[in-house]
Amino acid sequence: GGMIGIIGGGQLGRMLAMAAAQLGYRCHVYSPEASGPATEVSAAWTQGRYDDRDKLAAFAASVDVATYEFENVAADPLEAVAAAVPLYPPLVALRTAQDRIVEKRFAAAQGARTAAWAEAGSRERLNAALAAVGTPAILKTVRFGYDGKGQARLQTAADADAAWRTIGGQPAILEGFVAFEREFSVILARGADGSIVHWDAAENRHRDGILDTSTVPAHADIIACLPEARATAERIADALDYIGVVSVEFFATADGAVFNEMAPRVHNSGHWTIEGAETSQFENHIRAICGLPLGSTALTRSGATMTNLIGDDALRWPDYLAESGAHLHLYGKAVRAGRKMGHVTRLI
Ligand code: ATP
Ligand code: MG
Ligand code: MG
Repeated sequence: GGMIGIIGGGQLGRMLAMAAAQLGYRCHVYSPEASGPATEVSAAWTQGRYDDRDKLAAFAASVDVATYEFENVAADPLEAVAAAVPLYPPLVALRTAQDRIVEKRFAAAQGARTAAWAEAGSRERLNAALAAVGTPAILKTVRFGYDGKGQARLQTAADADAAWRTIGGQPAILEGFVAFEREFSVILARGADGSIVHWDAAENRHRDGILDTSTVPAHADIIACLPEARATAERIADALDYIGVVSVEFFATADGAVFNEMAPRVHNSGHWTIEGAETSQFENHIRAICGLPLGSTALTRSGATMTNLIGDDALRWPDYLAESGAHLHLYGKAVRAGRKMGHVTRLI
């Protein structure tokens, strides 16, 4: 038993809390919203701002270990949590993953190949970045992006004004467009003793910048890139003294795996592991932060496909209930366009 603190109240926290409950733990959720997917399934919750150090310290005093399920939470105030209880993954991982420039430098230092990139924090610097990186390219905010938000694509340098109007005024990075055939994620869990387990890599397809489907097994072109990508992800985890689940997104190219970004948490592209693997990403995250041995990541069948239910897609839930072999997950959110409402996993 014991109380696990979860910072962030979304569906990742919900599925973490459900895995924790299965192992006999209770969860205390800290989030700015009065209610949400994670609070609704947890034993206790605190409504508080992510920068309220006093509230965070009081929250920390009520838990035995803490984790976060969201990388757009300010890292400095979380020092109030880390001072009171073990906080995993370590804050250095959060700091690295929430700044695209720090993240790319760090990944490169671990031997990862990345897209060509340049800092583009002013209109003048965007011109210089375009000269350095070329087109096509993507202008991204350095921080706070998710689900493809905070990005603008440039086909040619003539698109610079429009891209700047979309993103400008915030710290930004210009990335060369990677001509990839397929993209995938490497999800691993690293235990307190440094041991690492990998799930099968999922092939990810996006729709309107949001993950649409994740499929295991991935295409042969991805499998060919996988040893290199896994080695990179392991170096990343080791360098951060990581404890918990970490997710690393890659593009599969003719030259090999190209690092896109990392998330210091369980990942949408790993939801298939709930039914598709012996131990889910959520359970192994809980095991890791609680100092338990990690569970097997072996496939339960020959593979799985996970489809996100975005916005109105969720209204089709009766169809999924009626479909034999479809595993429906709903997060209990009010329907809103572009919002992740749930997902369906089918084993194959
Ligand atoms: P997430 O919800 O995964 O956190 P995000 O908002 O942080 O997404 P990215 O992962 O950077 O955004 O980009 C979203 C998608 O856009 C990628 O999965 C990929 O399909 C495409 N993309 C991003 N960067 C590049 C690039 N440099 N070249 C080609 N495609 C890219
Ligand atoms: Mg991201
Ligand atoms: Mg991404």
